[in-house]
Amino acid sequence: MKIKSASFWKTDLDLVRPYTIAYKTVSSVANVFIELELENGMKGIGACNPSKQVIGKDANETFEELQKGNWQDQLVGKDIRTFEAMMRELHLGDKPRKGYIAALDIALFDLWGKFLDQPIVGYLGQQHSKMPTSITIGIKDVEESLEEADEYVGRGFRYLKVKIGEEVEKDLERLQKLRERFRDLIHIRVDANQAYTLAELISFWEVAQNLDIELIEQPMPANEPWEQLPLMQQVPAHLMPYIALDESLRFWEDAHLIAGLKPVPCGIFNIKLMKCGGIYPAMGIARSAQLERIKLMWGCNDESIVSITAALHAAFANKHTAFLDLDGSLDLARDLVSGGFTIEDGMMSLHGGAGLGVEKL
Ligand SMILES: [Mg+2]
Repeated sequence: MKIKSASFWKTDLDLVRPYTIAYKTVSSVANVFIELELENGMKGIGACNPSKQVIGKDANETFEELQKGNWQDQLVGKDIRTFEAMMRELHLGDKPRKGYIAALDIALFDLWGKFLDQPIVGYLGQQHSKMPTSITIGIKDVEESLEEADEYVGRGFRYLKVKIGEEVEKDLERLQKLRERFRDLIHIRVDANQAYTLAELISFWEVAQNLDIELIEQPMPANEPWEQLPLMQQVPAHLMPYIALDESLRFWEDAHLIAGLKPVPCGIFNIKLMKCGGIYPAMGIARSAQLERIKLMWGCNDESIVSITAALHAAFANKHTAFLDLDGSLDLARDLVSGGFTIEDGMMSLHGGAGLGVEKL
């Protein structure tokens, strides 16, 4: 069964609530969509919103790549039953890395799942059916942080991811107030987005370890991996299991490199389809992690339900998935699809249906 056509478009989506992280404020986002169609009329959809700061390309540049490229010629006419070969061609070749890879990977998975009449997670092997996701509080003062936390807890969320990275004392004050207000009602994880030095991380953790913090994401700068990894290996052993790598872990080959180090400079990999390029490389990263007993966290950018659902399929297909941070589509004021996943009191589960299980609106 051959792929008959491939189309793409870009849509600008406003955020419900603009937010600030350590290096920028975000108020609206562009997402790029790809749709593939088989000869029998079956369609597969993919989407992406890569981060310029992390992989060097944003959605607008990705859209330009699609306009300029001859990627459709290489795809149209291929038999979907050669799915595995197409994936290896897409992800393991020596072509320059394109921003749209994740959207294309997801569209192919959706199409393949539909062709098999099977949810993607069923094809990959389902290990989980329901898990809580965290929801993110940006860098704000204490009062605003408490207000936002009140709202999320009122909506049923019990896992809060708090962006930190101003000053250690200020960061700790917010966390202390959150812990005082909600006590053991909530779980708190933090994301420093590269803002700490090793000394700051260590002094932060001296206090934070008493606040029952689940994990700390990317405490230190992520330059080229070969420069930063020796520094991260100096993190004290008792703190290492709580370190989740995000910006340091972009591509499949980063995971391969990091998992091969002794000591491994983290306890958790934060996998994002927008960094690694889709479900196929994400599953490769997951296998590297599994060999070194590294837990998995699944994160996102501000993305359509399409790619958030794709991440959830991959997350649920891995036993060592321990943390979901897939709140990206909840921030969007509108989306182009419905279905995909259900979220109830902060618990995510897949909606069901072949492929991704999303419906175009
Ligand atoms: Mg992060």
